[in-house]
Amino acid sequence: MDPDEFRRHGHAMVDWIADYWSTVAQRPITSQDPPGAVAARLPLAAPERGEEFPAILADLDKVVVPGLTHWQHPNFYGYFPANISGPSVLADLLSSGLGVQGMLWATSPACTEVETVMMDWLAGLLDLPERFRSTGTGGGVIQDSASSATLVATLAALHRASGGQWRASGVQRRYRAYTSTQGHSSIEKAARIAGLGADGVRPVEVDPEAFGMRPDALRAAIEADLAAGDVPAIVVATIGTTSTTAIDPLPEIGAICAEYGIWLHVDAAYAGAAAVCPELRWTHAGLEYADSYCFDPHKWLLTGFDCDAFWVADRAGLVEALTVMPEYLRNAATGSGAVIDYRDWQVSLGRRFRALKLWFVLRWYGAEGLRAHIRSGVALADRLAGLVRADDRFELVAPHPFSLVCFRLRAGDEQSTELLERVNATGRAYLTHTRVDGRYTLRMAIGAPQTTEAHVRRTWELISDTATVLVGPEGR
Ligand code: PLP
Repeated sequence: MDPDEFRRHGHAMVDWIADYWSTVAQRPITSQDPPGAVAARLPLAAPERGEEFPAILADLDKVVVPGLTHWQHPNFYGYFPANISGPSVLADLLSSGLGVQGMLWATSPACTEVETVMMDWLAGLLDLPERFRSTGTGGGVIQDSASSATLVATLAALHRASGGQWRASGVQRRYRAYTSTQGHSSIEKAARIAGLGADGVRPVEVDPEAFGMRPDALRAAIEADLAAGDVPAIVVATIGTTSTTAIDPLPEIGAICAEYGIWLHVDAAYAGAAAVCPELRWTHAGLEYADSYCFDPHKWLLTGFDCDAFWVADRAGLVEALTVMPEYLRNAATGSGAVIDYRDWQVSLGRRFRALKLWFVLRWYGAEGLRAHIRSGVALADRLAGLVRADDRFELVAPHPFSLVCFRLRAGDEQSTELLERVNATGRAYLTHTRVDGRYTLRMAIGAPQTTEAHVRRTWELISDTATVLVGPEGR
């Protein structure tokens, strides 16, 4: 494809995406395809001869679109939002078009330096502790996902807990990780990859009302492990758990980590974006104790997947843990010690120019625009919670400090399960579920850029009408 052909087909592709965005609200949110249907629409083997671009584009509608779940639909309330936006998509296109590899500063200085500055900009926007800024001993890097951030934090924690031995000798002792019973599954995965085994993660009890980690239970778990000769290596605290957006009490947890010399990683994958709003920054109390912190702009900050923002307080320790220097990567800039080589801050070697999408998004929306986006989600969640509260057939299951509302039918699990299935089957709204205290709970995560008050209200009418079919107007 020469540059002129690229220009022509690129315009058609951008038109296609713009049309998709303008019509996505009219589509059923979930695919009606049975398993195997998409694969069956594809030929068994790659074509022998190249094809015309319009033919490829036409097949998007025939082959792919019917098999899509429309995450950008304004009534998509599943999991957590996966925001995208025009500036983010255009910057990703640019990143692909430039095709640079940013593994070393020397392989494309702009790729590294824009990223360092963007991570400092973001730290400023969220008012993160000074220790995470590149102007001090810390710094930020873009990981592909919060799961990778937790893995990298776990590896750096092992390096520190082993007094630097882990690099050479691996896991020689029984190192332990701690997170609340509500911590994300990626914490267990990181522990397994790091060689701690699944039972290397100690699940710590939460308080029964707000579901935050209980500091006394954390202390007891650490003491028990120490008594057994194990080495407490890392505590992963969460701001905004996946099930209910619970917030672990960082001031108490941080003080315990400081007392025992344990690495504190704070996972704010979804909720971290909220801190662009000063009134939501109370969640950061105690963050000054953290050795590392991450959140996903690719969830709720208008930046397309993948973009996890990860900071450490001691960048030298992280680099020491992860660096490997083969001859073919040696270069004068690295040797001078004056540059950042982000390959040493992540698992993979290669990395693309993801900072471009942060740069474009931050400039296009400005802090004001980002705050408006977050505030809209929080206000809509408040409105929804009011509707749930006003209907005696339902109960709110947990506090809703951000834009996720968890609720269920008082009638029981069976009715709540049926309610979710029926609502999702309409194709007009999409919610997911969790279990809270063992009971089936619906999660409605607001936060797509196109979602308005009218969408939330109509979705609630759909939920309420479906409940009437299931449990009647009185809920019995
Ligand atoms: N941590 C929390 C609290 C999450 O809610 C999630 C995903 O929803 C993750 C980690 C994993 O995020 P990622 O998909 O970026 O790995």
